[in-house]
Amino acid sequence: MKIKQWIFIFLVCYPLIGFAQPQKLLIKDSSRYSLSMIYESLVDMLYLYEAHVDLSILGYSEFGQSIPLLKISKPNASLKKNVLIVGNLHAREFFSSKFVLKFCNEFLYSIDATDGIYPSANKLLETYDFFIIPVANPDGLKIAQEDWQGIESFKQGIDSIKRIGPYSDWKANGKGIDLNNNFDDGNFEVKHGHLFEEEPASQGHKGDFPCQAIEAKLLQDYVDSIVPILTLSFHTKGDILFWADRGSHAQFKGLDTKLNTKVAAACDFKLAKVSRNPKEYGAGLENYIRAKTKRIGVCVELSAINDITAQHPANKFYTLVWEKCKNMPIIYLEELSRLYPQYFSIFEN
Ligand SMILES: [Zn+2]
Repeated sequence: MKIKQWIFIFLVCYPLIGFAQPQKLLIKDSSRYSLSMIYESLVDMLYLYEAHVDLSILGYSEFGQSIPLLKISKPNASLKKNVLIVGNLHAREFFSSKFVLKFCNEFLYSIDATDGIYPSANKLLETYDFFIIPVANPDGLKIAQEDWQGIESFKQGIDSIKRIGPYSDWKANGKGIDLNNNFDDGNFEVKHGHLFEEEPASQGHKGDFPCQAIEAKLLQDYVDSIVPILTLSFHTKGDILFWADRGSHAQFKGLDTKLNTKVAAACDFKLAKVSRNPKEYGAGLENYIRAKTKRIGVCVELSAINDITAQHPANKFYTLVWEKCKNMPIIYLEELSRLYPQYFSIFEN
């Protein structure tokens, strides 16, 4: 079901059929979130926090699934800086969309409540508008969860794609393109990562040309339209920040180093070395952000590494992710606000 239909059903039918009002904090730490659960949570947030939420659709995936876009803002006349938060570019990385959802929910709750976990929520909304894409790869998420409802007609095509491991290891989009290798950062031609696949595959295939995947094209065009000052793209695993590459690091004049060092220390994350070889690092969303918009882009790898491809079980979310990282987006923004007066000139074009 398309998200507009969800919005309609929830807004029209809630008062009529007397559904219980959802809890204000609604994300369940131990559940595995399916695509329909993500849609429902977003509609619940719209219903509960109407004054601060806009819910729309960025566009539709290769299989026609909605890619929801949530905006959190405080309406007033002043011009804000845009922040972009993205989850689940990679199909199997379920913790990332759940983290983004829970962050949005706790942040919205904190705007008006006195017992919210983010006391600076109101203040941050004086400076920033938040644009959130909790699930950038809905087809891939459905494949990795073997949730075929609504995509049955694509099943034969999916099964013709080279599959490395079980469905639960699926990383690509529905057409077998790794979205985080498909952005047009100027390094697409040289990109040849360690999981390289020539043909469409469940992981490692960068596509035949930049933005071949509808999902990558939608996201890249949106980035061009809002030019976020900070983009956090959430993945799993590693407890590590990929925050800089050789091609763009110098332009930030040390701001990226200060910002990410602060966050890594506060959240007990590792800082990756500045990526050296575009053959390895190129064509990711964060690389596009840095190279083409000259803004800060970080790939955040949530949860501890282990030696298997399989993701941590859903019920480990609270201890492996939430406890450790719940303040991460806030720390980024508070630190960016503190450092901005010293560095504003790097964002002037
Ligand atoms: Zn990933």
